[in-house]
Amino acid sequence: MVMFQNFFQVQRGVRQGCPLSPLLFVIVAEVFGQAIRKCPEIQGLRVPGGKEVKISQYADDNTCIVTNSYGLVKVIDVFNEYGRASGARLNTTKSKGLWLGRWRSRTDSPCGLTWVNTSLKIVGIYFGSENVNIQSWAEVTAKFKGILKKWEPRYLTLRGKMTVIGSLVASTLWHVVKIYPLTRECIASLQSEIWKFVWSKKPEWVRRETCMSDYLNGGLRIINLDIKSKALLIGRVFRFFEESEAPWKDFMRYYIGRSLGINDNSRPNSDIPTPFYSHLLRVLREFAVDLGQPRTSKMYYLKRIEDCVTPVQARSELAWNQRFGPGLIWKEIWTDVARSFNDPVLRDFDWRAVHRVLPVNFRVHKWYSRISSACARCGERIETLEHTLIHCPMVKELWMFILKLCNQIDASVIGLSERNMLLGCFPRTRTRDLLRYLISVGKFSAWKERVSYQFRKDEKINSLVYFRNYVRTRLETEQGIMGTKNFESKWCLNNVLACVTNGIIRTLI
Ligand SMILES: [Zn+2]
Repeated sequence: MVMFQNFFQVQRGVRQGCPLSPLLFVIVAEVFGQAIRKCPEIQGLRVPGGKEVKISQYADDNTCIVTNSYGLVKVIDVFNEYGRASGARLNTTKSKGLWLGRWRSRTDSPCGLTWVNTSLKIVGIYFGSENVNIQSWAEVTAKFKGILKKWEPRYLTLRGKMTVIGSLVASTLWHVVKIYPLTRECIASLQSEIWKFVWSKKPEWVRRETCMSDYLNGGLRIINLDIKSKALLIGRVFRFFEESEAPWKDFMRYYIGRSLGINDNSRPNSDIPTPFYSHLLRVLREFAVDLGQPRTSKMYYLKRIEDCVTPVQARSELAWNQRFGPGLIWKEIWTDVARSFNDPVLRDFDWRAVHRVLPVNFRVHKWYSRISSACARCGERIETLEHTLIHCPMVKELWMFILKLCNQIDASVIGLSERNMLLGCFPRTRTRDLLRYLISVGKFSAWKERVSYQFRKDEKINSLVYFRNYVRTRLETEQGIMGTKNFESKWCLNNVLACVTNGIIRTLI
């Protein structure tokens, strides 16, 4: 909207995201704001409480609110004067006017601008007529779905998808949520898009509640749009108590000040809050917000997830408890699954394995009876998770090899139990991460072999070969990116997987 010209030679481009340029810009733009506010001929809007608002500025976007005809002309005058001093020019094709209130039906076009009687888009949100919320949401929803679609064809781990949703997709909603509450239908439709994306449009094997929970509850922190959009509103109430002044605070005080106990009778109060403020009051009640204790929206979000969503126990926990008894400490097991010692693909696999949702034939057969429930490798009548990962005769050699490695790394490991192998439970010692890693790669290799037998009979994978390659590749990758000392303490315990002699790393596996 505003351009600078002929003042200094631009010799290098300003990098996008340069932290100084917006600050320089607002210092100059502030001059325009002051000039508008100080101009007595421009009459602005009186907000409840008596203050007059004439202008609202966001970066290069200026919104002037004028209630007298002469004021309209004056705004342009002031801008031109400001332009002579700063080099800024008004882009009349991008500058628009919206008639409101008693001017609603005006059809003239003063000051050479484009004028509308319905709605106007200001920093991505529509204002004006009755349907502006629907209009704003339609646009944002389309963008939301567009980004999801763009990422759909990529191979991403579950955690990768979680990151895409959190940082690229859902973030399109947040600035609108703070102005127009999402309708129930809209939330349901967007949330279902998220689930389709997470599960690549295949059946959802793990409960939604579990997926939305924190890692230590077996979850993926998939966002709950309903709770998140409400939690964001709460932040607004706490911002009210911050020292800065803003016109919106006068409206909040006017509409719900009494309900919040922040308005006395010396100021005007509305008896009926607007739909937005009624919604805000409902949210405050729903979240049992204590106004005396400022907390961030994020804290409210996490607490609400923990109170309402997490209590639904993961189905797999019940199944494993039946197998191993009630002694399993689930928070520990899930935290381990999420630990970053394992690479992202492995973490993804572990998550599915511990949730018991790998598509073994025993499960698949229940859904599609034409697919046999038998193990494609050894012919065992029922291929269960336990069979395919650890008991199938085809992976016996693999597990013997892994046991030997584990024993060399930690002499106290003289056998591998089902709990070691299926859930990665090991005592808390310094060899633990490494043992858990080998076990995870072992299961992953067994699974890769199984998949190759099931689907690609011409290209069968040998799990032991796969295992050694997998570990070797990881070691080689990390050699390149971490210092020799760190590498040695992470991977070279007892010189089993790799060793360092005279500063040179050698892979032994
Ligand atoms: Zn088998």
